[in-house]
Amino acid sequence: MQLPKSVNVLGVKYKVKLQSRLIENDESLLGMTDFPNDTIWLRKGMDVQRTQQTLIHELVHAMLYEVGNDDYNSENLVNPLGNVMYQVIKDNDLKVK
Ligand SMILES: [Zn+2]
Repeated sequence: MQLPKSVNVLGVKYKVKLQSRLIENDESLLGMTDFPNDTIWLRKGMDVQRTQQTLIHELVHAMLYEVGNDDYNSENLVNPLGNVMYQVIKDNDLKVK
């Protein structure tokens, strides 16, 4: 999976950007989604699989947000969904077009 420059989620084009320092509430993050600016930030310098896994995780936040799910920021919901999506996409080499 190449790192895309942007990802369309229900018509909203999320930019995908790398940033060396991602900090929120004094906590260092692997990824972050800036909803008002349609931007997914990924920590620069992570290895390929961690970067891909983090992108999928942030995309799950974005998907839930765009479908209007109030729990879009729930890590208890997004963590397992993101992890299983990443595994299924990767292990089955999924590309549907
Ligand atoms: Zn998250």
